[in-house]
Amino acid sequence: MSEKTTVAGVAVDTRHWIGGERVASAGTFTDHSPLDGVALGEISRGGAAEAEAAVAAAKAAFPAWAATPRAERARILHAIADGVEKRLEDLANVETLDNGALLRSHRRGVMPRVAHNFRFFADWLLTLDHEDFDTRGHTNHVSWDPAGPCVLITPWNAPLMLATWKVAPALAAGDTVILKPAEWSPLTASLLADIADAAGLPAGVLNVVQGYGTEAGSTLVAHPDVRRISFTGSVPTAKRIAAAAAAHLTPLSLELGGKSPLLVFADADLDLAVDLAVEQYDNAGQVCLAATRILVESSIAEEFTERFKVKAAALTQGDPREEATDLGPTIHPRQLEKVDGFVQRALAAGARAVIGGGPNSELGGLYYRPTLLTDVAQDSEIVQEEVFGPVLTLQTFDTEDEAVALANDTRFGLAATLATGDPERAERVTARLVAGTVWVNCFFVRDLQAPFGGSRLSGVGREGGTWSFDFYCDLKNTVTAPKGWNNHG
Ligand code: NAD
Repeated sequence: MSEKTTVAGVAVDTRHWIGGERVASAGTFTDHSPLDGVALGEISRGGAAEAEAAVAAAKAAFPAWAATPRAERARILHAIADGVEKRLEDLANVETLDNGALLRSHRRGVMPRVAHNFRFFADWLLTLDHEDFDTRGHTNHVSWDPAGPCVLITPWNAPLMLATWKVAPALAAGDTVILKPAEWSPLTASLLADIADAAGLPAGVLNVVQGYGTEAGSTLVAHPDVRRISFTGSVPTAKRIAAAAAAHLTPLSLELGGKSPLLVFADADLDLAVDLAVEQYDNAGQVCLAATRILVESSIAEEFTERFKVKAAALTQGDPREEATDLGPTIHPRQLEKVDGFVQRALAAGARAVIGGGPNSELGGLYYRPTLLTDVAQDSEIVQEEVFGPVLTLQTFDTEDEAVALANDTRFGLAATLATGDPERAERVTARLVAGTVWVNCFFVRDLQAPFGGSRLSGVGREGGTWSFDFYCDLKNTVTAPKGWNNHG
């Protein structure tokens, strides 16, 4: 079996990375490019044995890494960031061929952000502190102790960015890591292992196990030696993982799906509101935070829709490697089928396609036309369920109360976006929205020091800044008596 594949001119090891060594599995799975269906490589298909080996390696490496001084851990994380920056072109090109997202975004936004993930958590680690406090002369001292091996399970829509948003704080915290990337986009995780190794990360501190969730993933999350599980993905998988984690009460962080609203009030800057709406087609709509439900005040709905049509018509769909492309393919034939299923059922139930409504037959392949559906009922599937493709719905409201009621009326609570020219309205509405993140007159501004996560079915817990360290560490409070204190009088 070949141990490497060449993708966009870059050699990528197709094996696992366990205990500082490349490890092959007897079986493989084929990784296809969403651009043209071409096979990119035969990837080692990990199962229980590889998962066991990776947890054992992470467990063995933990004491030394946990004892490594913070400054040294931070230095190595910065060296990983340097490595990411050095290989930025490789990472961007491989990621685009593997998951179909825009090359220009990978170059300018995503991969720099990957490097920033490491730099940010390295620096934040050095500031992590809680002031000592006094209890009747006793000193309370709070510390963030490394917790142990962490299993990190990630999806395919932003593979390396979402992986490193977990890997970086876990490593900074002094934990060791087993990363299981998604089977539809496994390649950049392998490159990350090379980069971390070259940066001097000790063997076993970062392990990468490739394979299916139901095979490698399910063994990892059920393992008694795992101290934390951080998962980004879908709600049904999260429920399975939570059930497995329950056997050992392994603490979990879950970052899940969404059905987020964009509320457009009549007092909004309409150009801005339309821009915000069209931006939701980014990454072919395969973005958990996407505001897929556009809620517009009735008095401006017609004008909004007309301007939306003009702006959306100007989007260029095509090869994500081209600079001019705004919208690439969906990731996989199964995803395209799923997206189209939602749309066709909505149309059959009476929805009207303002634009789009099916696959892009001119381009063929996995390209789905940017779609806006209206005449949709609030309790319909298309309004209530996450599509995860370039599909938006448009509904109208007459009052602020109605807008808030519609916005909050799903099982999710990941994000919400507001377009309004009235700061007092923004404050009132924001206070009533159920969402982990609210953006007012902007979208996708994400600072790593902010808490990130979802309410309701969109997630459990928050990561980001100190919240990441709270999750990846065992917090300890040490109470020390004053000198000469005798508790027994
Ligand atoms: P998914 O749940 O199908 O898979 C995610 C990961 O879980 C993959 O690596 C998969 O192999 C693994 N997995 C599957 N079954 C498993 C099991 N039984 N045990 C352990 N691991 C298992 O999700 P997906 O289709 O890859 O990703 C899309 C979903 O992710 C969408 O719902 C999207 O909203 C969500 N998402 C959320 C965020 C966020 O930050 N909230 C970010 C990106 C994507």
